[in-house]
Amino acid sequence: MTKDALRIVWIYPDLLSTYGDRGNLIMLTRRAVLRGLPVESTGINSDQRVPEQGDIYLLGGGEDLPQVLAARRLRADGGLQAAAARGAVIFAVCAGYQLIGEVFGGAQGEPVDGLGLIDIRSSRGDERGVGEIVADVDQSLRVERLTGFENHQGKTSIGAGAKPLARVALGVGNGDGSGTEGVYAGRILGTYLHGPALVRNPSLADLLLTWAAGPLPPLPESEEVWTTRLREERLAAVPA
Ligand code: GLN
Repeated sequence: MTKDALRIVWIYPDLLSTYGDRGNLIMLTRRAVLRGLPVESTGINSDQRVPEQGDIYLLGGGEDLPQVLAARRLRADGGLQAAAARGAVIFAVCAGYQLIGEVFGGAQGEPVDGLGLIDIRSSRGDERGVGEIVADVDQSLRVERLTGFENHQGKTSIGAGAKPLARVALGVGNGDGSGTEGVYAGRILGTYLHGPALVRNPSLADLLLTWAAGPLPPLPESEEVWTTRLREERLAAVPA
């Protein structure tokens, strides 16, 4: 990998990629390149070693069994854990979100060990949360209102070592009765939002880029036309 490029690693697209999660990679790459930051991105399938030297790691959503398999392989591999210990940025969606925590509910609801990278615990809920979600982000992060799509059976509670990412205005989110959505701690951020999340929420993409590369200038308005239009359309479509 070239030394000065921002290294983005997309973890296990063969197991964890639902609802266009690849869009998160496309969005980060585009918004970095427009700021003059070259990007080297690589997709790592579940039969490959996870490189430890990435700057940003992406994990997408997945069905129950691929999620269990992904967790098992990542635990055995150790690359993502080493990257997290170095302070790499990790952005994890839905199944990816659940599996970076301490434990999550497997295909039959059985507890499955996660990677233990962040202080959350997930289990299977009684109902599946499906549909549009809108949530207001922890103000200290300076990220605009989130819009996304969720589809998950799991529910997630956050321990003392991490903070909720946002408060739910519409939808289910963490689903543990706290009214929260997602989590963050250090440079690790998890969310139930698909959509893909970073395409609908460019300021969340910029937060991740800032964590990895330092402060960034805003993009010219001409580059925000389509993202703004998409956000407005999705937010107007729901009563939040
Ligand atoms: N299998 C997990 C659940 O249902 C995650 C689903 C997803 O990634 N969309 O909770």
